[in-house]
Amino acid sequence: MRKVVFIIGLFCSMLVMAQDMEAIIKGERAAYEAKKNYKFKRSGQEYDLTYQQLNLTIDPGVRYISGSVYSELIALESNFTQFSFDLDSRMTVDSVHFEGGSIPFVHNNDEVTLVIPSRAKDDQVDVEIFYQGDPSVNEQNGFSFDYQQSGPISWTLSEPYGAYGWWPCKQQLYDKIDSLDMNITIPKNNKAAGMGNLVQVDTLYPDSSLVFHWEHRYPIATYLVAVAVTDYYEESHYIKFSDGDSIFHLDYIYPSYKPQADTLRWAIDGMMRGFDSLFGDYPFRKEKYGHAMFGRGGGMEHQTMSFMSRLDFDLMAHELAHQWFGNKITCGSWQDLWLNESWATYSNAIARELIKSKEEYHEFLIKSISRATRNYGGAVYAYDTTNVNELFNGDMRYRKGAMVLHQLRWEIGDSAFFEATRNYLKNTDMCYGFAYTADFIDEMEAASNTNLSPFFDRYVYKEGFPILSVEWNRINTKTININVSQTTSHPSVEFFPLRIQFYAKWEGGDSIFTIVHSQAIENIILDLGHKVEELIIDPNYWNLAKYTLFEGDHSDMSAVSIYPNPAEQKVKVFVLDKKVDALEITDCLGRLVSEYEILQLKNSTIDLDVSHLKPGPYFIKISAEGNQSTTKMIKQ
Ligand SMILES: [Zn+2]
Repeated sequence: MRKVVFIIGLFCSMLVMAQDMEAIIKGERAAYEAKKNYKFKRSGQEYDLTYQQLNLTIDPGVRYISGSVYSELIALESNFTQFSFDLDSRMTVDSVHFEGGSIPFVHNNDEVTLVIPSRAKDDQVDVEIFYQGDPSVNEQNGFSFDYQQSGPISWTLSEPYGAYGWWPCKQQLYDKIDSLDMNITIPKNNKAAGMGNLVQVDTLYPDSSLVFHWEHRYPIATYLVAVAVTDYYEESHYIKFSDGDSIFHLDYIYPSYKPQADTLRWAIDGMMRGFDSLFGDYPFRKEKYGHAMFGRGGGMEHQTMSFMSRLDFDLMAHELAHQWFGNKITCGSWQDLWLNESWATYSNAIARELIKSKEEYHEFLIKSISRATRNYGGAVYAYDTTNVNELFNGDMRYRKGAMVLHQLRWEIGDSAFFEATRNYLKNTDMCYGFAYTADFIDEMEAASNTNLSPFFDRYVYKEGFPILSVEWNRINTKTININVSQTTSHPSVEFFPLRIQFYAKWEGGDSIFTIVHSQAIENIILDLGHKVEELIIDPNYWNLAKYTLFEGDHSDMSAVSIYPNPAEQKVKVFVLDKKVDALEITDCLGRLVSEYEILQLKNSTIDLDVSHLKPGPYFIKISAEGNQSTTKMIKQ
């Protein structure tokens, strides 16, 4: 029932406290303050969106935007004549252009419905909606106006349900826009942050306003389209990959933030190279990666241009990782949001492991375990997506999910784990598209050649975590006894099988070993070949679990075996090389339950009748040639 793996290694328990991740979560939770739950928009299922062009005039000092959105789409139905886009009813649609003329439309219930002469299935339809209004009135906070030290700023943040608040879009998670252009007209001295490559900046006269032309040639989910406008200071450089290729990196920062940015910017190079080699090529290598500062706490992983409150190490790692997890592959439904958030959070831990120190990596894991296990219930899978606050639950979607990935890595090993991750990210059925939890499980199962359904069932779909009480004692100068008992925090899971790592220390040496914990109450005897002085459980924080480790009474007696344990009717007691004189059984409060006089030859087995004991934990105390030993026994 047990498997022992010896890995010689060093362990350091120095821990460094790190800052809280709340701000990251809050920043991505666009509608955090929204009081009402929002009905998920489902317009436009009858067409495939192939191209959109946003032509917008934005003055961050004025709560108003105007312009047009041009869309190219392919009809998915025959007799294609009526279709719609999502747009807040409080925005004003001025006209809709189709084939050189205006066409009728109806704008109500946050939806613009258009009617065109009938088109056949697979026909392309081009349509341009001209509109204007104050998008900041929308409850989903998709578009904000604010101030930074050198002037006004406006930015968008549409995740999850805010895009329809500021532009006519197809707000959903099943059809990415295959190609996108953004032409943003802004006041002079400002810059407009956008997606992809900045191909041109035009100056308009007489007021010297500027037009920023951004061109993005990768598929993009609607909620990842964003724009931010203010008086930005620009810094850029190229990050070189190990294969000789490089990526253009652009920072749009507040002028007042420049001194801080100069001390923080270094970290992005190592993260970009690290993720690129671990997860596969940066998904938008032909274009850029960038940061644009915005006024919300935390960050948001807009495609190729993350919006940031600051250039903090953890925040940069989280949002950069989203370019793979969330942007290249987007959760196929909001229920599957953990595929975005848990991965970005776990990648933050990986960035610490790669670039910082083992202590800071461990500190992140400890914090994640503590945040996840402060909730006795709660699932990683988001069953309720109507409440945005619950959807972006930091303990579940971020911290617990990150620990589930970490534990999965432990269960199947680094090689299978990262191979599966790379396969997932390059699977042509999903990459630059959408994935569901089942797709991710398929890749992990294929690479590890393991049925992982029970694992994902317990950790992603069901609730809770294991709570372990672990008692250890030395039964002689070479052997220890480890008694493990497990309960679970939530009734949806009865038992969590675990591989538990231990660190043992003795005079002049140490060792790391692993036990397989496969039943709720278990007694494991291990010959480590040394007199163990100190034992630490799960020194690398692999498991999402709560542990209490007790040190029991030690014995200098030769090896003592008590089996079976748990016992029903009888137990056998064997003591190596000593003659047993007396045995007594006490209950867990130390009260004497049974006493036995033993007449026995050295190295023979003693049969004890325990049938009279009530079920529960007991201690068997053995006296042999002046030595004493106590071992825990469970009566079933
Ligand atoms: Zn995130």
